[in-house]
Amino acid sequence: MARCLIACGSNQGRPRQHLGDARDLLRSMPGVTLVAASRARETRPVGGPPDQAPFMNGAFLVETDLLPIDMLGVLTAIENTLHRERSERWGPRTIDLDLLLYDDLVIDEPGLTVPHPRMTTRRFVLEPAAEIAPDLVHPVAGCTIRDLLENISKADPHVAVVGAPGSGAADVAAAVAGSWLDTTLLDARQLLTGEPCVRPNVLILVVAASAVLAQRLACDAGRARNDAVVATAVAEAPANTTCSVSEAVALQGALRHHLLGIPLAAHWRPRAVVVVEADTLEQAIGEAVAAVEAMA
Ligand code: ATP
Ligand code: CA
Ligand code: CA
Ligand code: CA
Repeated sequence: MARCLIACGSNQGRPRQHLGDARDLLRSMPGVTLVAASRARETRPVGGPPDQAPFMNGAFLVETDLLPIDMLGVLTAIENTLHRERSERWGPRTIDLDLLLYDDLVIDEPGLTVPHPRMTTRRFVLEPAAEIAPDLVHPVAGCTIRDLLENISKADPHVAVVGAPGSGAADVAAAVAGSWLDTTLLDARQLLTGEPCVRPNVLILVVAASAVLAQRLACDAGRARNDAVVATAVAEAPANTTCSVSEAVALQGALRHHLLGIPLAAHWRPRAVVVVEADTLEQAIGEAVAAVEAMA
């Protein structure tokens, strides 16, 4: 038997009723046993189109002998039963069911990522989850749901943005700083040594396809260089170094591995790491700002 933690949200039709319907449908599924359901709470929308209706959010804990992909299939079937329509990203929905955790499995496949990649900064996810499963461990962060909620509840949570040269991290950091004051552009290489001068609560890793890195490095070498090596708190920018595309790609891979690979007891990592990967800088900024705004 596996334990699954599931997030639930609705802001269309009758949100409170949809959450109750989703719970009942989940309970009725063969191979799924409902262990706990949080209360529903109203939250303000984060990301997506402006002027959306407020959300109702909740969480469920289930036991199942279904495989992860089949558990996702069950969630999608319930969404379809409750008339979920998919148009724009983060748009209004009758019901949204996300698989947050499946035991301590780490899955990274085209249609399924577990733990859910955006859960660690989302108060609307962590609050209901902590109500029913505070001691469940997030296998990548290496801490409990309670710890993750506490991490974003600090009086002055520190948000850092990092990325390889050409990733756009500097622009993303500037945009995030506009809505969140305590933001640092971290030195990517220093982070990899394992002893960063600052230990952010939240780290946004900006990544880009190698073709995009190549294009940005070629068209504006000076600006791109700033992405990785100029830091407000940890200065030490090699003034005249340029970065090749292959170096940038390698650095990006190393960062991803360091921050999201199997955790090693030896090295420190932030509790909340969110990867922002988008075709355009504008999209990357939208993703990053949404991740930060979800903490409030
Ligand atoms: P977010 O993922 O940021 O909460 P969303 O829930 O609005 O946004 P959807 O449009 O509901 O996003 O989902 C997009 C796709 O995400 C789905 O088609 C699904 O295959 C995929 N997906 C990957 N991992 C998961 C997961 N752990 N739980 C739910 N869906 C997932
Ligand atoms: Ca059942
Ligand atoms: Ca969701
Ligand atoms: Ca979803």
